[in-house]
Order: sequence, then structure tokens, then C-alpha cells
Amino acid sequence: MPANNSSREVRVRFAPSPTGELHVGNIRTALFDWAYARHTGGKFIFRIEDTDTERVTPEYIQAAINTLKWLGLDWDEGPEVGGPHGPYLQSERLEIYAEWASKFLAQGDAYHCYCSAEELEAVREAQRKANQAPGYNGHCRDLSSQQIDEYKAEGRLPVVRMLMPDGSTTFTDLIRGDVTFEHKFVPDFVLVRHDGSPLYTLAVAVDDVLMKVSHVLRGEDLLSSTPRQLRVYDAMGVDVKDYPLFAHLPFVMGQDNAKLSKRNGETSIAWYRDAGYLPEAICNYLALLGWSPGEDRENVTMKELTELFTVERVHSSPARFDMKKLEAINGDKIRALTLDAFLEWAKPFLINAGTISGTASEIELVKKALPIIQERITTLSEIPALLNFLFVSEFNVESESAEKIADSQSKEVLKISADRLAGLAEWNHESIEGILRQALIVELGLKPRIAFSALRIAVTGSHISPPLFESMELLGAQKSLERIQAAL
Ligand code: GLU
Repeated sequence: MPANNSSREVRVRFAPSPTGELHVGNIRTALFDWAYARHTGGKFIFRIEDTDTERVTPEYIQAAINTLKWLGLDWDEGPEVGGPHGPYLQSERLEIYAEWASKFLAQGDAYHCYCSAEELEAVREAQRKANQAPGYNGHCRDLSSQQIDEYKAEGRLPVVRMLMPDGSTTFTDLIRGDVTFEHKFVPDFVLVRHDGSPLYTLAVAVDDVLMKVSHVLRGEDLLSSTPRQLRVYDAMGVDVKDYPLFAHLPFVMGQDNAKLSKRNGETSIAWYRDAGYLPEAICNYLALLGWSPGEDRENVTMKELTELFTVERVHSSPARFDMKKLEAINGDKIRALTLDAFLEWAKPFLINAGTISGTASEIELVKKALPIIQERITTLSEIPALLNFLFVSEFNVESESAEKIADSQSKEVLKISADRLAGLAEWNHESIEGILRQALIVELGLKPRIAFSALRIAVTGSHISPPLFESMELLGAQKSLERIQAAL
């Protein structure tokens, strides 16, 4: 099959079957689809493939919609926004698939197959024994009208099966080059089940044609379904030059080349959201799974992604999911936030953790505190623990930390600090640092780590905290001194 005419309008679709929450692999596909549409000035179509009514639920459909929205992958046609080729939920297009199936039957491209599940299993079993490729043996291709009547009399309900002619299918994958499938490995396949419901292969191909999809960018796991889809286009009478072009994206493997798994990255986007990852970090990171902006760059904004994304830069070898790299990128994106944006992201984490209730005075204090932690966190979920000390009234030093300041030297540090700080005229981090360095480092000759860790624990309750002097400034003189006294 020749690569087709590249001048037609670019229309790319993301077509998940939401049988669960979208995960890393689905989102990588959605992102590449979106980026390609935006790069080319084409359309991004979002279609829900929900013909498997037992496994797709309304909740999962809504979750898929919310996930794309949260990630900022806006679509031009699809659920909620509509479009000229809708509806965009396959469950609302069942008549369309039924009509095409009837047409294929009438044309002789498809036939009714009456084989029972047991008969099909027996065929497979015989093929296994004879070391043949498994697949339908064409039993019902040429039934006589008498046989058909007998099957009907037995009450058998037929499926609609597509006839796969002898030969092979070759198509040019934009990432892999020419790919050929010998039809002896692509047996006649079912288009419509006994109950009249369409199968994926029918619905996906019909919709890609009717929705005028020009490019199908999707996971490599779907590569082997391509010859069947091309067969459907052919039966629909589509001219070869109007077939969508395919680009099969490389697999995403987990770390150590293990299969992607829950512990290895393949969790829902909701998990990443709740763990404090920014959508822009997720998109940036996922963009690197199979694509590269060139020049060893790793940091791209959404805008740059749309400017730079081309299918030519997608490679065919499997990509490896690396949580550490995602964390690093997330940290970079957090550091790049403006204070106002950072505040908006931080608020729900602080409120959900119960650190603040969200009053104006709390928000004001949070806004002052955020700059001192912005450099140090990799996920938003770290924020509540770091800022908690500013908002607690009942003050509890972590037991592990309390032990660390129980020795006589710590007591001395705390006592001297309390005395000197009490006389401090102006309470800001420079003056606090100045007076404490003089007293503890210069006069007492202590090492900073030892001198300040006791204070850090007394003031923040933990030996891990934002920078000490800034923390004390934010907490204020009165509370800081009360806490040092309480620790003593
Ligand atoms: N609905 C299919 C799936 O989620 C994908 C369809 C396609 O991209 O061709 O596996």
C-alpha cells in the first residue's frame, strides 16, 4: 500500500476503550495524538470505544474525559464538545455498524458463521496438535442453503465474519516502514457477535473512515489488528490513497525491561495526580517515551512539544519507564511555577491533608512559606508535612526527633538560643541567623550541623524541615521562643 497523499487535512484520533482508568500507556498515545494534531494545525478527535458494555462503565468513561482535561489535552471533536462526525461514543453508533455489516454480507465480503464455541475450540485443538497457526478454518464460507436452514432449525444464531482473501497485506507504517502480514496468519474474523453487537475491528475501522481520520497513532500492541482494519476499509470501498496512515508507537516497558506494572509505572493518572505530579511534568515525561526533542533535551513545555513534535522523531525501539526521571522532571516543573500558580497547586494538598482549612490568613502565610520549599520538593504531596509546623497549635515533636535533642549539648544550644533570640530587636531570617551564628558557632565553637539541628527540631518538630531561619521568621518570634522553651 503506498503512503497516501499527504496534503489532506490532518485528523488524528485518540480512541480508548475505558475498561479501567487510563494509564501511562494510554496517555502516552493520547499525548502523541494531540501533539501531532497541534503541530500540524489539524484536528484532535476523542472517541470513546465502548462497545464492550460489560467492561466499559460510565464511570470509566467520565474518568477518561476528566484525565484528558486535567492533562490539558483539549480535543476539537468528541464527548462534551460534539463535532460534525458524531456521536463520538461508539455505543451511540450501533446502527451505523449494523448497516455496514449488512452491506458487507450483501457484497460477499462477509458471511454468516454458525459455528458454536465448542466447534471452534475443537478446530483450535486440532490446529494445536498439528502445529498449525490457530484461527478460523473457513468452515462456514460456502454453506449450502440446506445447511443454513439446518443450522437455523437448530436455533443457532450466526456471527458475521469477514472473509480474508488469500494473499498478504502490506502497509507503510510511518515509524516502522513497510509491514507485511501474510493472510494465512490473519484468518477470517468476526465483525458482529451472535447478539448483534459489533466487535472492535468493525467499529474502529468504520469510524476511522466516517470520521475522516487521516493518521492513526497508537500503541504497537495494535499493530497486528491493522490488516483486518485495512480489509474493512477495502470492503467499505475506500480508495487506498484515502486510507488513514498508521504510526505504531513503541511499547513502554517498566524499569529493568520488566513489563510495565503497578509498581513499575503502569498506574492510573489519578494516582499521579494525587501523589502530587503536575500535568505538565507527566506530559513532558511521557513525551520522552519514544520521542525526543533532539539535542539531548529533556525539558519541554507543552507549547514546545507542539512546536517540535513530528512522527519522524518517534523511534521504534521500546521505551523504558523511569520513575526517577519523572520525579526529577516534576521537581523542575514545580520550580518553574510562578508563586501564584504554585499556591493554587499547593492549596488542595494542604487542605486535604488537614494542614489548613483555607482561611485568608492561612493562605497568606502559605504564600510566604512556599518560596522556601519550592527548590526542595519533587512532588506536591510533600508540602503539607513541610509546612505543618506553621499551622499546628498543639505542638508535638516527632519522637525520633525528640530523642535527638535530649542530650546536654542540645539543651545548652536551646537555652543560649532562647536567651539571645529574646533580645532580638528585629525578627527576620538575617537577624536570626546572625545572632545564632555568633552565639553558637563563633562563641561556643559548635559545628553548624550540630548547633542548628537541635533548633530545627525544637521549632519545626522534625529534623527535616524547610530552611531553619526562614522557618523561624515565618513562625514569628513568640511561637518560636515558646517552642524552644517547651523543648527545654
Ligand atoms: N480502543 C482501542 C483500545 O483502547 C484502541 C483503538 C485504536 O487506537 O485503534 O485498545
